[in-house]
Amino acid sequence: MLIDIHAHVDSNEFFQDIGNVISRCNIIIVNAGVDYESDLRTLELSTKFSNVFPAIGLHPEFVEKVNELENVIPLVDRAVAISEVGLDYYWVKDEEARRRQINILNIFLEIGEKKNKPLIVHIRGGIKDFLDMIGSFNVKFVMHAFEGSIKNALKIEDLGGYISIPPIIVRDKYRQQIVKQININNLLTETDSPFLPPRKGERNEPCNVKYSIEKIAEIKAIPLVEVEKYIENNFKKLINL
Ligand SMILES: [Zn+2]
Repeated sequence: MLIDIHAHVDSNEFFQDIGNVISRCNIIIVNAGVDYESDLRTLELSTKFSNVFPAIGLHPEFVEKVNELENVIPLVDRAVAISEVGLDYYWVKDEEARRRQINILNIFLEIGEKKNKPLIVHIRGGIKDFLDMIGSFNVKFVMHAFEGSIKNALKIEDLGGYISIPPIIVRDKYRQQIVKQININNLLTETDSPFLPPRKGERNEPCNVKYSIEKIAEIKAIPLVEVEKYIENNFKKLINL
């Protein structure tokens, strides 16, 4: 069984052929809502397709949609994880907006701890602030599309966190280094579909996690089937379906 821990198959890019896309391989897909509308679409997809599981959140890029929080939070009860949440200092430069991102992430960390839901987080540029926060919470977490340093990847490993590997790894030497350094028990696979494709310019799809698996197997010199099993076990430790 393949695992895509982070995808956006509710987005327009999949409107025409969603049924085909998610049944091309034997896979579990955790779909991440990015705002209230997308959270609702995510829940709907999960009732329609038995291999799609909902994650509920408010993407840090949409910090101006803070008013949606009161509608988003009650939906967490119906989700297997909290996502997409985090800190994005790449697109959000304003200090006040960054502070608001921290406050929102704090709220989701509290909810995750209280309701025993893992967080699948997006951290771009805000890793220092994130590492300052995460230690105070008793939550399981995954760094989605991690692009930080090896030093910080090792800190995440120490904290018991997971790093999920998107198919773009096939053409990203830097991510290959991270896989080399991190224990396989702390790795997961994702696509971030329709983003981060293995080949530039294409639409990414959940079944492309097979490229992540292949690359991890090559780097770690472990047979493909075993890598698949490791990732599946890591997923089971993270999420109780
Ligand atoms: Zn995403």
